[in-house]
Amino acid sequence: MAHLWLRLRAVPGWIWPLLIGVLLFALPFLGMDYAVTRQIELTLILALIVVGLNLSLGFAGELAMGQTAMYAAGAYVAGLANKAGVTDIWLQILIGAAGALVVGIISGIPGLRLGSWSLAMTSFFLILLIPDVLSIFKTETGGRNGLAGIMPATSFGQMIDGRTYYLILVGVTIVVFALMRNLIVSGHGTALRVLKQSPVLASSMGISVFRAKLTAYAIGAVPAGIAGALFANLDLYISPEAFAFSFAMTVLAASIFGGSASIYGALIGAAVLQFGMNQSTNFSQFGLIISGAFLLLGGVAFTGGLSGLVRTLVRRADRAARHKVGAQAVVAAPAVVEKLEGALLRTDGISKAFGGNQALSDVSIEAQPGAVTAIIGPNGSGKTTLLNMISGFYRTDAGTISLDGEDIQGLASYRVARAGVSRTFQTPNVPEKLTVIEAVEAGRYAADRASVFASVLRLPSYWRARRADRLEAERALALVGLSDQRDEMADSLPLGNRRLLEVARSLVGSPKVILLDEVASGLDEDELAVLEQLVLRLRDAGMTVILVEHNFQLVLRVADDIYVLAQGSVMAHGSPELIESNPRVMEEYLGVTAETSATGGADNE
Ligand code: ADP
Ligand code: MG
Repeated sequence: MAHLWLRLRAVPGWIWPLLIGVLLFALPFLGMDYAVTRQIELTLILALIVVGLNLSLGFAGELAMGQTAMYAAGAYVAGLANKAGVTDIWLQILIGAAGALVVGIISGIPGLRLGSWSLAMTSFFLILLIPDVLSIFKTETGGRNGLAGIMPATSFGQMIDGRTYYLILVGVTIVVFALMRNLIVSGHGTALRVLKQSPVLASSMGISVFRAKLTAYAIGAVPAGIAGALFANLDLYISPEAFAFSFAMTVLAASIFGGSASIYGALIGAAVLQFGMNQSTNFSQFGLIISGAFLLLGGVAFTGGLSGLVRTLVRRADRAARHKVGAQAVVAAPAVVEKLEGALLRTDGISKAFGGNQALSDVSIEAQPGAVTAIIGPNGSGKTTLLNMISGFYRTDAGTISLDGEDIQGLASYRVARAGVSRTFQTPNVPEKLTVIEAVEAGRYAADRASVFASVLRLPSYWRARRADRLEAERALALVGLSDQRDEMADSLPLGNRRLLEVARSLVGSPKVILLDEVASGLDEDELAVLEQLVLRLRDAGMTVILVEHNFQLVLRVADDIYVLAQGSVMAHGSPELIESNPRVMEEYLGVTAETSATGGADNE
């Protein structure tokens, strides 16, 4: 049983959607009747809209309700083009997609610029505006009466019969789903998942939050526009009712029920909603209630929707089967650190106040390449704030920060990351729903990634970046001693491992400077030894290492240079020997006397 399951799982994942695709293509030849054909066609159209929504809602984490408006835009633009003489379905699909893309970008920019709930609001109003906009252009769109007189579609000059139209719809849907899947499994998809959970983490990894969200929203508009064009040519008539608020709710319900953070979930959700709605006789009356019920069911009964449920079950079966059969050994990549290029990081007199609380005042530090610069000091002395200023999370009140002589203060944090500054967080920031190796690969975004275009079409540059991602991630995992955990879920790791995972993630993009914020706390002795070795190897390879640390013994062993912060100012600076022999530092600020520090009783909080 277990063997059979594992053999089944060894079948490449794309086989299953392929089978569904083949089945859909074959149906008309197996004598499918008109009513079912129409339901499937409407399901596919809904699935196209939902898959675009999932990109924003499920992956980027934006409650973007505008899908219906983009669907309407696609339908009307294609319908009008058709009436103007463009009856070719392929041209109409292109025109519909372009129309939706324009609406997506125009509504997305202000909505996303303002942040938080504003995209949800703008896109919500966008839906409510549809009938009004159509009324304003009444002569062209027919207003409430709808757009009639759309000509039957042609394909390269040939008339299309009903069956061919069905086949075109199936083909287009398969292609769109394949491309969306390519996007999601690429580094851009991982970036979206990281972003959804933690914009702070995302920007520290070099991801521009605004651009990534806008890209997701705009790309998500394209399938909706395609769906619109296909819908307009299905009945050769469209009216505002097809794009009403209740339809927007159907889209949302299908997304949630099928699982928003999923590509194929869109198809499942659309099928359930479409066929479910069809069963209820008084749809126009109860449509909203039915959508609401599915929404609740999807959201409450099983988070992650149906696809999430399936994924959980599959993972459980995997684990059980592997347990029975015995785990196969993981082939670990060799843990080598090649020559690294560091950079000189300087802060000159930086200050920062939070309200009346002067967190940093006039702090100047210098971290050399090929050296470990430690920053120590009691809790609340401003160590994390200093790292946050370097990472570009806060603006400085005064002073400058430079990397190899180039000013980096004032840069957006994702730009600082792209300039080569990488970091870990005091509270490990590990994305959900990613395996350990995926979470580490995500760290390569700033250093090396294929374009969205190349990723979607799987051009050679995509495969090259992907191979490099895998190799570098394996190496980084070997360096921190996590190779055996590579396929576990990242957020299920214990604290110590999560810290090491963060270190691996911040290393993998070949940064010049690495900022480690209390990485040693929560590590057991073995992990601590791995970390210590790693820090020394990075230093020897030439990297600039900044270590904020409470474990004083560790600091004394690895640091080349130590800054002691107290109440936001540098109160001492020098070599480990100098700091260790400074009684004021030892007693007043580290709370250890000379004897306890000698016996290893470091201040460990
Ligand atoms: P450390 O890392 O040395 O323990 P922090 O840098 O976290 O210290 O904090 C320094 C001071 O700045 C503390 O008084 C803290 O309360 C304050 N502080 C840090 N971040 C913020 C923030 N985002 N808003 C307001 N106060 C903050
Ligand atoms: Mg701190």
